[in-house]
Amino acid sequence: MSRVIPRFDTLAAAKYDSTPSAEKRHRIDLEQVFGENLFGLHEMKARMPSAQFEALLSTMQNRTELDPSVADAVAAAMKEWALEKGATHYSHWFQPLTGNTAEKHDSFLKPTGDGRAIAEFRGKALVQGEPDASSFPSGGLRATFEARGYTAWDPTSPAFLMEGPGGAYLCIPTAFASWAGDALDKKTPLLRSMEVIDEQARRALRLFGSPPLPVTATCGPEQEFFLVDEEFYFRRPDLQTCGRTLFGTKPPKGQELDDHYFGSIPARVLEYMNEVELELYRLGVPVTTRHNEVAPGQYEMAPIFEDANQAADHQQLMMSTLRRVARKYGLVCLLHEKPFQGVNGSGKHLNWSMGTDEQNLLEPGETPHENMQFLFFCSAVLKAVARHQDLLRAAVAHAGNDHRLGANEAPPAIISAFCGDQLQDVFEQIEKAGTATSSKSSGLMGLGVKSLPHLPKHAGDRNRTSPFAFTGNKWEFRALGSSQSVSFPATVLNTIVAESIDELCTKLEAQLEKGTSFEDALRGLLASEIHEFKHIIFNGDNYSAEWVTEAEKRGLLNLGSTMDALPRLVDEKNLALFEKYGVLSHRELESRYEIFLEQYFHAINIEGETAQYIAQTMILPSAVRFLSELLTTAERADELGMKLGGVLKTAAQVNDLIDRLTDCIAVLAEQNQELGGDDVVSKAEHMRRNIVPAMNAVRDVVDRLERIVPDDLWPVPTYRDMLFVK
Ligand code: ADP
Ligand code: MG
Repeated sequence: MSRVIPRFDTLAAAKYDSTPSAEKRHRIDLEQVFGENLFGLHEMKARMPSAQFEALLSTMQNRTELDPSVADAVAAAMKEWALEKGATHYSHWFQPLTGNTAEKHDSFLKPTGDGRAIAEFRGKALVQGEPDASSFPSGGLRATFEARGYTAWDPTSPAFLMEGPGGAYLCIPTAFASWAGDALDKKTPLLRSMEVIDEQARRALRLFGSPPLPVTATCGPEQEFFLVDEEFYFRRPDLQTCGRTLFGTKPPKGQELDDHYFGSIPARVLEYMNEVELELYRLGVPVTTRHNEVAPGQYEMAPIFEDANQAADHQQLMMSTLRRVARKYGLVCLLHEKPFQGVNGSGKHLNWSMGTDEQNLLEPGETPHENMQFLFFCSAVLKAVARHQDLLRAAVAHAGNDHRLGANEAPPAIISAFCGDQLQDVFEQIEKAGTATSSKSSGLMGLGVKSLPHLPKHAGDRNRTSPFAFTGNKWEFRALGSSQSVSFPATVLNTIVAESIDELCTKLEAQLEKGTSFEDALRGLLASEIHEFKHIIFNGDNYSAEWVTEAEKRGLLNLGSTMDALPRLVDEKNLALFEKYGVLSHRELESRYEIFLEQYFHAINIEGETAQYIAQTMILPSAVRFLSELLTTAERADELGMKLGGVLKTAAQVNDLIDRLTDCIAVLAEQNQELGGDDVVSKAEHMRRNIVPAMNAVRDVVDRLERIVPDDLWPVPTYRDMLFVK
């Protein structure tokens, strides 16, 4: 019998030609290349009149208002630079609430009316753009007839040049707002929250007698991702439409041997990473680390930290570059949180701190017990996390992340904070005695080999299971999903920490007014504050069942799914918080809630329909073909008077699974027909309550079939194909 389905050619995929091209073999001058396509300070200084350059610098550093004449000077310099680099267009580049980036290109050309044209770019065009906003999600902030939207130049994030074989264009980072002035993007609230934390942290620095220099929130996001060969990707309708496999049985070998993590990077992948890095260097994105991750086919890249706003812009560039460059190497980059069931999913660790040009406010130094300023800021962070567990959880809640958080994978849905031994000990001393007198020292570690150096030991070990961990001089928020923008989680961190600092400062100032000395007031404050956040500190294993029970005893929240977490966004407490600090108005926060719900609903709706389609039109026919082969064989055997035990047994098994599959598909199809109501909450609930279980039921049968249907009849590439061809 002729096979209708050709077996997927693993060999063809594996035979990728990795001979480096002449251009790639060319030695790269790192220092020359870095920032080549970035219109950074260096370039501005060289091309702008010095008075205007100084004025711009002051706007950037002190976040003050921009003089319009400066905008004209910047525009002129920008145009000159971009044209020299071969740009034909400019674009206001922004981050609508889809979580992606958006751009609309305008040519620099202006006709002069006599059949010629000049290249023109004025301050006005730099400062403000007016894209049609009607097709971006607004969560009810804008009626469709009010289509106007505005983009506003963000002078604190440098413009950059995007190059492609077809030409180059200038991208100008901008904020995006509705005609009525509501923020319709991810950047605006982030910038607002940076101003808030700056103001409060400076207020604290003044109390400490430290130079009250501008304080910047800093972020370093680590990006995990999978790479699969495009041979396979386009043969998997689920990967193509949903970004993850909806079916697929675990291969005999997964990640259990730990032989991939930190292994030597496969040649093709390394070549790919080199090119990704080169492109990012050109854009001034300081990518620095790269390595194999835990799951087969999984990798990680991370930049050196920057101020939160630039880090967020650069993270977007990193995701788009990872995706784009992959195709040149016959690969597809999967940024989804859980492309493959049964092996680790992908996250994004958001390393976060705050500091001035002179000091990182979360640097404990050698003797943290004496570093009262550090203890003050660290307490502010812990207080914020304890009070706003719900917000941190909601900031990372989306359909893809539900496969990680609360689903037996790093990290759990319960938000807690890991402090490490040294810090924990200092806090315990303060709690018991009102003051701390020692810090557990880290010391040197010998390895028992004379020729090996003694290594300085860190004062605290790492804890890979914690969702929020202190890692020496920064906090690492590990619950973000790999596909998400870091802007909102960073906005939440900035705002909640600013609120804590505000409250702590107010208490200190009240004591000072009463005449208490600064040292006494501070000591008293720290000792009493510990009770506010003690319960959030957890240094143990976050994956253990005991922790779930213990966390419940402590009264910590356990918001297992997106639908448990999202509604918390619009709790009174959170509406009030964002409004108080001017980060998001009620309307703006409510609209985000609605958009997040909509995104959850759409993501799962698409998955449900894709699952139905694949099961019905690809899997079921393959199973029926197999059954038909078995029955034909049995019939022939009968004619020849042979007894066929095994064949009949297999036929019965396949037949049974076919019955079950058709039943499950029918249930899923019926649920897919339902939209679950009129409002977005009930639609999203329908997805969680009815579609997800119906999809899981179909998957269960399909994955069983995969184990008995002949390999050459199976209609889609398997996990074994996709995860191991490199
Ligand atoms: P690991 O995987 O061990 O956590 P990485 O080196 O991959 O470590 O990532 C650590 C990240 O933390 C880097 O992006 C680094 O730049 C960032 N980081 C370091 N210091 C700070 C800071 N003060 N603020 C924000 N991020 C920081
Ligand atoms: Mg990390």
